[in-house]
Amino acid sequence: MHQQHNVVAGVDMGATHIRLCLQTMAGEILHCEKRRTAQAIEGGVVAGITGWLEALFEQHNARCYGLVMGFPALVGKDKRTIISTPNLPLTAEALVGLAEQLESALGCPVEFSRDVNLQLSFDVQENSLTDKEVLGAYLGTGMGFAIWLNGAPWTGAHGVAGELGHIPQGDMQQNCGCGNPGCLETVCSGLALRRWYEQQPRDYELGELFIHALNEPFVQTLLDHAARAIATSINLFDPDAVILGGGVMDMPAFPREALIAATRRHVRRPLPWEAVRFLSASSSSFNGAQGAAALARSRFTLQSVAAPGPVVHG
Ligand SMILES: [Zn+2]
Repeated sequence: MHQQHNVVAGVDMGATHIRLCLQTMAGEILHCEKRRTAQAIEGGVVAGITGWLEALFEQHNARCYGLVMGFPALVGKDKRTIISTPNLPLTAEALVGLAEQLESALGCPVEFSRDVNLQLSFDVQENSLTDKEVLGAYLGTGMGFAIWLNGAPWTGAHGVAGELGHIPQGDMQQNCGCGNPGCLETVCSGLALRRWYEQQPRDYELGELFIHALNEPFVQTLLDHAARAIATSINLFDPDAVILGGGVMDMPAFPREALIAATRRHVRRPLPWEAVRFLSASSSSFNGAQGAAALARSRFTLQSVAAPGPVVHG
């Protein structure tokens, strides 16, 4: 049998796919894999995740020191309670005591996180910014946003900080998916783009919207909204760097430089205007899972021998 690996696990729980990443304590990636969510958790979340992980631990002769699991959801300050998860095929009952059940099945500590925090953790590591103050703006289905402060995602008093998509700077005639009127996401999100695209027949695919419709007033207004929201966050937090990414920004011909210029127009001078840097998010599909594993490394490496983790055999 080959050498034993001390590992951490990251799981990115999406509506369509679950992605998983095993890393050694040194940050070496041992395994990345994705499965369809519906199939992976057919027999229950705990059975699905632990069965999958335990087979991998055996295959790699690995001892696991901790698991971080990301959800497209609001996650409580305790990093164990999932407050609201409208986008997952999970019942509320399936979420009760989930962290405890996973811990006792796996024999290692488990934490939950909002998925956008995992994406930012990954981008911060990739760009060697862990000791810096960093904001992540991820324009995808919604207007994802996350804050990196003091070496970790900053989650606020209740665990739900960073909901830039839900500032009341949208269309007050529309209700947002969150239930409030006039959130930014009503006019600045992938959902808003799709809604506009579907208003009438178009002679191009939605994915090519920026190639064919960049100068349409709705699209320009959406970009303006994004620029003003991102500038607002910069003026509030005074970050070293801002990571820009997400599915909409990954679309062909997305006007990234114009968005940055429009954002900078509203950033306070002389600082942070002179100093703030804009970086691109990496868009590999395993970012979330890798970010989760990286977060698990920083959370569990040192203390987990003493924590309720695996028994250390002398
Ligand atoms: Zn909202």
